[in-house]
Amino acid sequence: MSAAERLAEIRGRLGAAALQANRDPASVTLVAVSKTFPPEAVMPLIDAGQAVFGENRVQEASGKWPILLARHTELRLHLIGPLQTNKVRDALALFHAVHSLDRERLAAAIAKEVAAGARCPEIFVQVNTGEEPQKAGVPPREAVAFVRRCREVHGLPVAGLMCIPPLEDAPGPHFALLRKIGEEAGTGALSMGMSGDFETAIAFGATHVRIGSALFGARG
Ligand SMILES: *Cc1c(COP(=O)(O)O)cnc(C)c1O
Repeated sequence: MSAAERLAEIRGRLGAAALQANRDPASVTLVAVSKTFPPEAVMPLIDAGQAVFGENRVQEASGKWPILLARHTELRLHLIGPLQTNKVRDALALFHAVHSLDRERLAAAIAKEVAAGARCPEIFVQVNTGEEPQKAGVPPREAVAFVRRCREVHGLPVAGLMCIPPLEDAPGPHFALLRKIGEEAGTGALSMGMSGDFETAIAFGATHVRIGSALFGARG
């Protein structure tokens, strides 16, 4: 299958899952996760009309995306992986959305750059729904207060929440928990669901699904 054919297949499944959940397919943004793949693998998807892409590392994206972004002004780049405070300036110059805000120091660093004139990204707070020690994200019980501090103390607009369920768990309960926290926090968007579980995530209200391997093939 060509990249364009894979994209059409995923778009079809996304639309069907949305309709099944009585949702408008246009309410779900497909973030095409191109990490580890070179620009040559990305270009056919751009040509097929895909405009939203995700990368998990600032440094990798800095090498790969500036030329593509300059050439295609409709593109929107989402950072879905961890962000170090010393990379915030580089990240905001490149990314239109950040899915991984999970600590106060990072909120302060983003706010400082925005105050200095950087473009304010669409912000998602990452929640560690499985409370895994090795995983990034705010613990579920602290998430609502954290969103409030981002807004009130740092003046950051928080658009939504993001989670990555533990590999060994059924994802549904994690998606349900993220949605419940989002309702309490008053955040509209939900970034959840990957290649293996995006249809489930859409049933639970995902507004952004992050899909890599189903579009680009297995990562090496
Ligand atoms: C790599 C990655 C994805 C995409 O995973 P696939 O299983 O390849 O679809 C989604 N979200 C995050 C945070 C990732 O790092």
